[in-house]
Amino acid sequence: MSNGKKSKLPCGRGPELNVKRAVANKASMNQNWEGKLLNHLKNKGLRHSDARIKVTQVAAEAEEHFDIQQLVLRVQKKFKDIGAATVYRTVKTLVDAGILRETFQGEAGVSLFEFTSEDHHDHIVCVDCGSIFEFYDDGLEVAQQRTVQSHDFEEVRHQHVIYARCTRLAR
Ligand SMILES: [Zn+2]
Ligand SMILES: [Zn+2]
Repeated sequence: MSNGKKSKLPCGRGPELNVKRAVANKASMNQNWEGKLLNHLKNKGLRHSDARIKVTQVAAEAEEHFDIQQLVLRVQKKFKDIGAATVYRTVKTLVDAGILRETFQGEAGVSLFEFTSEDHHDHIVCVDCGSIFEFYDDGLEVAQQRTVQSHDFEEVRHQHVIYARCTRLAR
């Protein structure tokens, strides 16, 4: 996203204070998609289309969680000939391929996406500025496991979103 936005949130903290999702890590996961995508297309007997590759390239530039509408705008800024339907279809393919994951639904009910990373994380959403923070809490993960197992389930995946008010914001 734009560098200007990187500076400071209204509460004074920098968004990069987030996690743990190191830049190196992010760069590598966003680069790994091509082989994965080609494999997936081959396995599914899908066409290796240029548009799909272009959409994925643009998506891989995202530094933050994004919704499809934002991706459509970014794609069309670069490639005017790629329609919204293609972007929607490509996102679905990327999710199927395990390259993108649906992070969670924002408050407007719109799904947010991010590239799948090795390191699992959950999210805190600031109700004041809407910024999304990533966190990992061992205790929470263990507790979730325990709960699932105590009900005779085996976890497939989970999304944990906490909507919160920032205590650093001057009121
Ligand atoms: Zn978790
Ligand atoms: Zn995330």
